[in-house]
Amino acid sequence: MAAEHMRSWTIGNVEVTRIVELNNHVDPLAFLLEGGSRELMKQYDWLFPHFATPEGDMLITFQCFVVKTPDRRIMIDTCIGNDRWREHEIFNNMQTSFLADLERAGCPVETIDTVLCTHLHFDHVGWNTRKVNGKWVPTFPNARYLFGRLEWDHWKQVPHDGTVHAQHLVDSIQPILDAKLADFIEPGHQVSDELRLFPTPGHTPGHVSIHIASAGEEAIITGDMMHHPIQIAEPLLPGNFCMDKARSCQTRKNFIEQYGDSKVLIIGSHFCDPTVGWIERDKDNWRFRIKED
Ligand SMILES: [Zn+2]
Repeated sequence: MAAEHMRSWTIGNVEVTRIVELNNHVDPLAFLLEGGSRELMKQYDWLFPHFATPEGDMLITFQCFVVKTPDRRIMIDTCIGNDRWREHEIFNNMQTSFLADLERAGCPVETIDTVLCTHLHFDHVGWNTRKVNGKWVPTFPNARYLFGRLEWDHWKQVPHDGTVHAQHLVDSIQPILDAKLADFIEPGHQVSDELRLFPTPGHTPGHVSIHIASAGEEAIITGDMMHHPIQIAEPLLPGNFCMDKARSCQTRKNFIEQYGDSKVLIIGSHFCDPTVGWIERDKDNWRFRIKED
């Protein structure tokens, strides 16, 4: 397996391992970000080569993170999943080695005690379940699954009949509810001694990001509060799939101002390898400075 497929970082006594499901996807610019263009991408040379093609097309990765603390194993989001019907061809009926990759990372599914979904879009909940003998069953039998109460308040109103881009409710959420493995949590939930959630609404109503603190070091897993590093320089560039675009922009702007020029490591949920770095000042703007190995 390519090294960039699986990479780990330590934050104090916590280890975060990235499991990539779909690497370096070239995004048609109008798909992910409203108002994105090749010309805009080319204004920021630090986006190249990791986060954009030479032509200025946007690169994004679909991945999740396993967080190992001294006594816990926590999955942050669960990617897209195999065997599913999805509207967009690239996500439809995927067949990846995700579960084998988890094992290779030393985290077979039985060892996971907690699954946290930053929000309930299909690309963050897929491996909540897997298909066994034609039936969707929980992938992580020993885990509690943490879903945001505010987030679920929204999604439970969406018809669970597979229409309006909600097939994932049927195959990736409902089976967890049926198995009584779900806990509905508040946006400031403390997941473990080291992991605390904080609300980053806009992309979805109950979206949360994760703050990790251990032995004097700190990191944040963004979730979809931002999709691409260009949004550090252009925080008011909304995602096309953000439900409340104005709110998502304000959340992102506040976040960048709070964490800009700090030592807090930023782990971007859709950022391509090397995925982690810092928000640092760039004249009168901000940029992403990647963490080199
Ligand atoms: Zn996403």
